[in-house]
Amino acid sequence: MAQRTYNHVMVRHNLSIAAAAAALFVLAWVWPEGAEPPASATTAVEPTVSGSSAPASAGDGEADATGAPEAPSSAAEPSDPVSESESPPAPAPSPSPVAAPAATMYEGPLGTRNRTGDDRVALTFDDGPSPKWTPKVLDMLRAQGVKATFCVIGAYAEAYPELVADIAREGHTLCNHSWFHEFDLGKWSSEEIRANLQRTNDAIVKAAPGAAVAYFRHPGGQWTDRAIAVAADLGMESLHWTVDPSDWNSKKTQKQIREHVLGRSGPGAIVLLHDGASNQAEMYGALASIFAEFSRRGYVYSAL
Ligand SMILES: [Zn+2]
Repeated sequence: MAQRTYNHVMVRHNLSIAAAAAALFVLAWVWPEGAEPPASATTAVEPTVSGSSAPASAGDGEADATGAPEAPSSAAEPSDPVSESESPPAPAPSPSPVAAPAATMYEGPLGTRNRTGDDRVALTFDDGPSPKWTPKVLDMLRAQGVKATFCVIGAYAEAYPELVADIAREGHTLCNHSWFHEFDLGKWSSEEIRANLQRTNDAIVKAAPGAAVAYFRHPGGQWTDRAIAVAADLGMESLHWTVDPSDWNSKKTQKQIREHVLGRSGPGAIVLLHDGASNQAEMYGALASIFAEFSRRGYVYSAL
């Protein structure tokens, strides 16, 4: 039964990848404001895609096939995501306020969390880990003494476990961003969504034993009540954002990213950035000046 479910999930998964790849060309032109960005991401990691190599993109709508990460050298073995034995228990409920239902507390889509909850600001980095950019972002965060949140893609966590371990070791917060950035994840059955999210959490915890995965961010911010409910059942709060400079978009310049973030961020803001997309030189270039201005404003950071 588990195998049948798994196969079904894979079929849906492959279809969704094909659909996402097709959609990328459209999204490249008209990515809606506020929608989350894409990651570039060709990955050969997808162990369940037989025959053909990596999907064109795992991004949030990613439209761009350039800058795709190289296939990991360690062709990760499939980890049989639905195997009971491999499914670690859901994170223990936290007594912290973070675990409380946020539906009435926040104003993100469908009640998702779109603010830190106090005056602190939060930087979130999606679509990694990326061998090219995650280490650079980690270095800068360390130099600034800032803790942030990384919404990682499960397949990349499996491919680059050392980067996930680095994120955890340095005290940053880990967030589940789906197994392979399936934009339509929220439309799947609850069982399929659960298998996808659990598989991602398994990869994260395998890379960083003991790490808590307290948050889920739906690819593209395409939330559904069902996805939010499954995430909650797995102990994860659904995390949206306040400010989205579309830094994944290869047409965005460093200046545009900086001005968008600085112009729209205030106390309590959750800023959406990407360490795993394809335009990250521009994002990275903007990051230093964002830190400088936030510091001038006296902002304190929250790792959520
Ligand atoms: Zn994303």
